[in-house]
Amino acid sequence: MRAVLFPKPNEFEVTDVDVPRPPRGHVLIRVQASMICATDAKVLAGKFAGTKFPHVPGHEFAGHVVGLGEGVTSLPLGAHVGIEVHVGCGSCDRCREGLYNLCLNYGHPERGHAHIGFTVPGGLAEYASVPLAAVHPLPANVNTREGAWTDNLGVSLWALERGRLKAGERVVVFGSGAIGLCTAQLARALGAACVTVVGRGARLERAKPFADAIADEKDVSTLAGTADLVVEFAGTAEAAREAIATARRGGRVVLGGSTGTGVELSGVDLSTIVRGHLDVLGSVANPMGVSGRALALLARGLVDVRALTTHHFALERFAEAWQTFRERREGAIRVMLEP
Ligand SMILES: [Zn+2]
Ligand SMILES: [Zn+2]
Repeated sequence: MRAVLFPKPNEFEVTDVDVPRPPRGHVLIRVQASMICATDAKVLAGKFAGTKFPHVPGHEFAGHVVGLGEGVTSLPLGAHVGIEVHVGCGSCDRCREGLYNLCLNYGHPERGHAHIGFTVPGGLAEYASVPLAAVHPLPANVNTREGAWTDNLGVSLWALERGRLKAGERVVVFGSGAIGLCTAQLARALGAACVTVVGRGARLERAKPFADAIADEKDVSTLAGTADLVVEFAGTAEAAREAIATARRGGRVVLGGSTGTGVELSGVDLSTIVRGHLDVLGSVANPMGVSGRALALLARGLVDVRALTTHHFALERFAEAWQTFRERREGAIRVMLEP
């Protein structure tokens, strides 16, 4: 099959690799839609300890089921499915709590853990073999192009659940990329009174249909102390600092952008948090099956992911797709490969 391959850190190619055979408990997917995200750049750079090169990346994808490993009986061949990327071992203390995104056996596939596209092969390929636990059957009116957003929507909805969003609240979202704009739409779907997206450039312009207001990051001080809930998916220390400053006293701040190491938060007056009585929370990934609930909202038309899928390429044109995404050409938000 054709696949994107990272033969070693900082190198990629589109090449032939063997079609995976689904082992016990796994499902073979014929991938139809697979997207690139900023995290793939970190994988390519070798920044994830669990990645073993050569590596087939890809963690935002959907397709249909073409093979079932031993013991898989709950899913019919041909089912259209979206993929959630974190699969826990199922038996460690965090997995037992449902927090399989924090599995204590991370990076140990032999103990049942998989981080698809990170520690095990992913879906920037014609076929992918994934554990059954990663698979979400798509609602009838959700196609695989939309289904490729399964994981992203879960990440966004989880951040809002971490932040205990209540109907009628004022929400500010930092980051006008894919996750930020999913978060803004889901906040509205959950009844937020007013959603403001903070970002910059062409991508911020793209946020307009999905928010009640947009704000350039240069002008963010005008929002200081106004938000009941702030969600940060910008991934910079500056955005995190501003997110904390944007919460009203007694409000909540969810930091979700800086998933890699090396971004340090400084310059925050701790009294802003202490006397501000803030809840400052970290959020990573999408445990507790939240992606399945997010898909239900997608099926109801409460989230538009088609407008966020700004570019489409055949898998063979991965190099061009990669450049388009990395350089944010034409305000690229998500670039989709169709293997
Ligand atoms: Zn991603
Ligand atoms: Zn576990």
